[in-house]
Amino acid sequence: MSLIELKVPDIGGHENVDIIAVEVKAGDTIAVDDTLITLETDKATMDVPAEAAGVVKEVKVKVGDKISEGGVILVVEAEGAAEAPKAEAAPAAAPAQEAPKAAAPAPQAAQFSGNADAEYDVVVLGGGPGGYSAAFAAADEGLKVAIVERYATLGGVCLNVGCIPSKALLHNANVIDEVRHLAANGIKYQEPELDIDMLRTYKDKVVGRLTGGLSGMAKARKVDVIRGNGQFVGAHHIEVALTETGEYDAPLVETGEKRTIQFKNAIIAAGSRVMNLPFIPQDPRIIDSTGALALKEVPGNMLIIGGGIIGLEMGTVYSTLGTRLEVVEMMDGLMQGADRDLVKVWQKANEHRFDRIMINTKTVAVEAREDGIYVTFEGENAPKEPQRYDSVLVAAGRAPNGKLIGAENAGVAVTERGFIEVDKQMRTNVPHIYAIGDIVGQPMLAHKAVHEGHVAAENCAGHKAYFDARVIPGVAFTSPEVAWVGVTETSAKAQGLKITKANFPWAASGRAIANGCDDGFTKLIFDAESGRIIGGGIVGPNGGDMIGEICLAIEMGCDAADIGKTIHPHPTLGESIGMAAEVALGVCTDLPPQKKK
Ligand code: FAD
Repeated sequence: MSLIELKVPDIGGHENVDIIAVEVKAGDTIAVDDTLITLETDKATMDVPAEAAGVVKEVKVKVGDKISEGGVILVVEAEGAAEAPKAEAAPAAAPAQEAPKAAAPAPQAAQFSGNADAEYDVVVLGGGPGGYSAAFAAADEGLKVAIVERYATLGGVCLNVGCIPSKALLHNANVIDEVRHLAANGIKYQEPELDIDMLRTYKDKVVGRLTGGLSGMAKARKVDVIRGNGQFVGAHHIEVALTETGEYDAPLVETGEKRTIQFKNAIIAAGSRVMNLPFIPQDPRIIDSTGALALKEVPGNMLIIGGGIIGLEMGTVYSTLGTRLEVVEMMDGLMQGADRDLVKVWQKANEHRFDRIMINTKTVAVEAREDGIYVTFEGENAPKEPQRYDSVLVAAGRAPNGKLIGAENAGVAVTERGFIEVDKQMRTNVPHIYAIGDIVGQPMLAHKAVHEGHVAAENCAGHKAYFDARVIPGVAFTSPEVAWVGVTETSAKAQGLKITKANFPWAASGRAIANGCDDGFTKLIFDAESGRIIGGGIVGPNGGDMIGEICLAIEMGCDAADIGKTIHPHPTLGESIGMAAEVALGVCTDLPPQKKK
C-alpha cells in the first residue's frame, strides 16, 4: 500500500477548466476508471477516471474550482498502481436495479414564489422511452399531463440516436452478410454497391416514422409537449427555457422565452449522455455512437474504444460496409455481463472483422494528426508504439444527467455520479417526485425505462404500483445476436448460487442447420434446490426475439417440465428453448441418449 496522487491527465490542451462535479469523498474505495471529477469546457463535459484503485485519503478539489493538466485531484492509498480491473468488476448478470453509488444527502428545496404559466397533475421531464411511456400512461389514467423535452422530437436517445437507428443500420448489414453467405450454397451475387446517402435516408425515415407517430399519440391523449430545457426551481415548479433546433442532439438554441410550470407530481426521465474521456481531442474523425449513426463515411479502419454492446453493434455495421476493425477493452473480455460461452460463439463468427482485439488494455493517449488518429495503449495486449487509425469510435459508456436538471431546487437527492435513487415505487426522496430510466441506474436499457415509467404513472394516479420485475434481459444485436437474462453462470459463481444448467446446441436443430446458423446454442439455468428457472442465454440469429420466452418463464416461476412440456412449433429456432428444458429433464430425443434425471 502506498499513498499516491491522482492528477488530471492530458485534457486536449484545455487550461483552467471548471470542475462541475466531484464524484468521490475521503474514505471511498475506488476502482480503476471510476469517475473522480467531471470537467466542463466551453465545448464539452468530460469525466476524469481513476488511474489507480484504492481508498481515498484526501480530496484536493471541490465543485467550482478550476484545474488544468497535472492538477492534483486526490490522494489515494493505492492497492497497486494502475491495475486493470479484474473479473470482480464484471456486472452481475441478473441486472435488476443496481443501486447507484452512495446517495448524496437530501438538499433543502428552494422556495419558489413566482407565478406559473400552466398547471398540471403530472409533468414529465424528458421525452425518451421512459418519459413518453410515463406521460401516456398517466394521461390514460385521466390525468392532465405535460412532457418537457428540449429536442424537437419525442423518443429520446432510443428512438433518435440509439436503439432504433442502430437497428435500422444493423438490419441492412445483416442482409448483406446473409447474401454473402449464400455464395457457399451456390447463389452468388456481386458485391453490393453502397449509396451511403440512401442508406442514411432510410435510417432517418425509420426514425421519423416513429417519432412522428409519438407526436400524434401525444396529441391524441391531449398530452402537452413543451419544447425546452427544463430546470426545477422549487418542489412544485419547473422553469422551461424554450428551445428551437433542427436535428436531435444538434446544438440547442434557446429562444429567450421562458415558461414556468406548476405540478402536483413530477416524473424525472432526463436520461443519460455519452461519457467523454478526458484525453480525447476534438476531431471529426473521432466519433461517439451518435456520430457513428450519422454515417458520414466508411473509413478504411476504425478503433472502437470500449468492447460493450453499443461499440460492437456499430462496429458490425461499419465492418460489413467495408471498415477494418480493432477494439480495445479494459476488462478481461468483450460484451461484459454475458457468459463467456455465449460470447465465444459470437467472437469466432466475427474474427474476420477484426485486425486486433485488445482486452485487459487501456487507451492512454489519443492524438489527431493530419494523416490519422494516433492512439497509445497500456496493458496486456498493448502494442508498444502508438497506432494509426482513420477513425476512432468512443463507446466507453454513458453518464446519467441527474446533475443537470436543478434537482437540488426541488429537494431531490442526486448521487455523486449523477444518479437519482428511487424506491420500488420509483419515488425519489421527495414523495411527489418520481424518477425513471437511465437516470436511476443500470442497466441503461429502454425496456427498463418503459416499465419504470408505467409504475411511476400508476402511482401518480393513486394506485399502489411497484417495479418488481425479477429480471431485465440484455441483448447485443450483433451477428449472431447474443441475449441473456437473469442469473448467468458467471454471476452464480460470484454469488455462490447452486445451479444446474442445460444446453441445447443448435447443431442438433433442423431449422438452425437449414438456416446455416448451427453454431448457436440455447442455455437454461435452474435453481438447484427448487428446480425453477432463474436464467438463460441464447447466441444465434433472433436470440433477442426469443429471450422473451425465458424472461416470462422466470417471472412465472416455471421449472424445466413447464417449459419442456410446452409445445413449441417445429421447425423453429425457438424450439431450442423447449429442447434445452428437455435436456434439463434428461428426456431430449433430439440428442444422443442422456443419463435420466
Ligand atoms: P433518454 O432516452 O436518454 O431520454 C431522455 C430525454 O430527456 C432526452 O430526449 C433528453 O433530450 C431529455 N432531457 C434531458 N434533460 C432535459 C432537460 N433538462 N430538459 C428537457 N429535456 C431534457 N437500449 C435498449 O433497450 N435496446 C437497444 O438496442 C439499445 N440500443 C442503443 C444503442 C445506442 C447507440 C445507444 C446510445 C443506446 C441504446 N440503448 C438501447 C439505450 C437506450 O437508448 C436508453 O436506455 C434509453 O433511451 C433510456 O431512456 P430514458 O427515457 O431513460 O432516457
